[in-house]
Amino acid sequence: VMLKDGMVQYTSQRLYPNVRHLSPAKRERILVTGGAGFVGSHLVDRLMWMGHEVIVVDNFFTGTKRNVQHWIGHPNFELVTHDVVDPYMIEVSQIYHLACPASPPHYQYNPTKTVKTSVMGTINMLGLAKRTKARFLLTSTSEIYGDPEEHPQKETYWGHVNPIGPRACYDEGKRIAETLTYSYMRQNDVDVRVARIFNTFGPRMSPTDGRVVSNFIMQALRGQPLTIYGDGHQTRSFQYVHDLVDGLILLMNKNYTEPVNLGNTEEYTILDFAHTIRDQVLATTTTAAGPMTDVEIKLLPAAMDDPRKRKPDITRAKKYLGWEPRFAVKQGIQETVDWFKLQQMEGAI
Ligand code: NAD
Ligand code: UDP
Repeated sequence: VMLKDGMVQYTSQRLYPNVRHLSPAKRERILVTGGAGFVGSHLVDRLMWMGHEVIVVDNFFTGTKRNVQHWIGHPNFELVTHDVVDPYMIEVSQIYHLACPASPPHYQYNPTKTVKTSVMGTINMLGLAKRTKARFLLTSTSEIYGDPEEHPQKETYWGHVNPIGPRACYDEGKRIAETLTYSYMRQNDVDVRVARIFNTFGPRMSPTDGRVVSNFIMQALRGQPLTIYGDGHQTRSFQYVHDLVDGLILLMNKNYTEPVNLGNTEEYTILDFAHTIRDQVLATTTTAAGPMTDVEIKLLPAAMDDPRKRKPDITRAKKYLGWEPRFAVKQGIQETVDWFKLQQMEGAI
């Protein structure tokens, strides 16, 4: 039953967001590993709205059912609890391989498991792509450039990674995942895509995942000091998650097999970023006691091997995908702040 507010009712029990009707010939069967996580759940939303069939495989290490609960029971959607370190058999035509913890505290919590997820998980998903002839997209990271000596970073830069430091499990894991991807392409003719994603933020980031955007927003909303690791002169370039999802879907469906940077070129020092977030939260938040007036910013010891600067060169994405970010960082931040506030009001965080 089509309801007037754009929702569709399939049973007397549940309402689902409306999805486009695609003919079977145009409908892909798409596997999204890590689809219950922050980026994955936004990608799933978009693929579902486009009318595709989506299968999410996730072990819920950092993701939650809540991120995809609005699709559970929908005829085009399937949620499978599974760890990609173990093989998984299914018939699909596209694979977006995202499964991997992404925030430093999460990927450093069990570094060996992070390496296993990147190595064995990627081998398993590439094996699946080989058997089913599915197109395979790896979500790699700007972290493969390490603490870069080239700025901004182009895809041709080979990187500067400490192979034995605390970030190595993630950085080297993703580097070998890229190596595996291109080995399967050359050796087994697997049709591959590699996205090198730069820092991304938005609604559904876990408030406890320790990344800078969620930390600063939650700290500001709680009136607690914003914690800067080091002197705050290190830089990052932040993209809003909806821009990333545009880029991932374009990359999957275009004919370009080399790695592509996906990120916003608006570069901030972490100190400036702390001020930006604090000012935005203060300007838009009132508490029971009235408008918020001030929140402290405090410096803590630097994190080991923290990259000093990071900014993508997105010439390749512009040229081959016709992609560039459409959201200004401040707009994305405001929507993210509003989402965190809503979660607080609903008692979800
Ligand atoms: P996230 O932690 O929110 O999501 C990762 C998802 O993978 C979670 O749902 C988690 O439960 C799942 N997962 C982890 N290990 C798994 C395993 N062994 N088996 C099955 N599922 C597993 O992180 P995110 O920010 O959504 O990142 C998604 C992908 O994008 C990751 O591959 C990450 O490396 C990449 N990436 C993200 C960013 C960013 O800024 N968000 C930047 C660069 C790259
Ligand atoms: N950072 C910070 N305070 C925090 C969390 C992070 O100063 O509470 C810094 C961190 O040291 C890094 C930058 O912010 O320089 C981005 O950190 P994040 O963990 O979000 O992502 P990274 O790019 O390091 O993977």
